[in-house]
Amino acid sequence: MKRASVFLATLLSVFAVVDLGQAQSGKPGVERLYILNCGEGVAGDVSRWSPGVNEGKSMDFVDNCYLIKHAQGWFLWDTGIPDAVAAMPNGLAPADSKAIHWRRPKTLAAQLDQLGIKPADIKGMAVSHTHPDHIGNVEMFPETMLYVQKAEYEWPGANNQPRFKPEHPVTKLEGDRDIFGDGSVTILSTPGHTPGHQSLLVKLPKTGALMLSGDAAHFKDNWDNRRVPSINFNRDQTLASMQKMSETLTKEKAQLWINHDKAQRDGLRMSPEFYD
Ligand SMILES: [Zn+2]
Repeated sequence: MKRASVFLATLLSVFAVVDLGQAQSGKPGVERLYILNCGEGVAGDVSRWSPGVNEGKSMDFVDNCYLIKHAQGWFLWDTGIPDAVAAMPNGLAPADSKAIHWRRPKTLAAQLDQLGIKPADIKGMAVSHTHPDHIGNVEMFPETMLYVQKAEYEWPGANNQPRFKPEHPVTKLEGDRDIFGDGSVTILSTPGHTPGHQSLLVKLPKTGALMLSGDAAHFKDNWDNRRVPSINFNRDQTLASMQKMSETLTKEKAQLWINHDKAQRDGLRMSPEFYD
């Protein structure tokens, strides 16, 4: 009798494992994705990003953060302009008038709060690169595991300052990384704009595959024409990364969402609406 019940228990546990396996393979891990407003700005001269093209013309930029709900927890991609800029009546004026004058119409904190999410609820985060319009709020999430390329982490900042607080939990990557182990959220190493620039491939259950550009391109016209901005770490790497992204977009039948492209963002649903 005892032996029979042990056998039954063993049998049931085997079925339980098989069931879990089927549930994992049959159901995508990502449930939804929110686009958060992480800044709005005006570039004084857009040819900074497209040398020789549209010289002297100003252009509106946006800055997005993306919040992903995965069955294993929340994941944040990029953190935008610092929330403190929201309190500045005239926004953040650049030293060079050709650069971007940023404003923060909504804070990241307020947008998370609207969704009922606390910073400690965010299990993982990654930034596309360490330019200031992408890392402005990393320390709002001091307990969240940060995924960053080793080459970016170790890239000396101004006055040899580290790019991140040494005590922030970090996973240093050397290449692509499947974050949840189910292929639904994958960091793609796309160096060039900075030494350890990265992009993100996300597979949503209804919307399908999306690639979040980071700053591999700043707006669609530059992507279409493979233009490399004047402020850029390595031109050859940038062009090779665009080629890698293009091949991945084809292979995964993915859409490309370009972080700073206002015309594209104007056609997308912002948080609290979402994509599933
Ligand atoms: Zn940027």
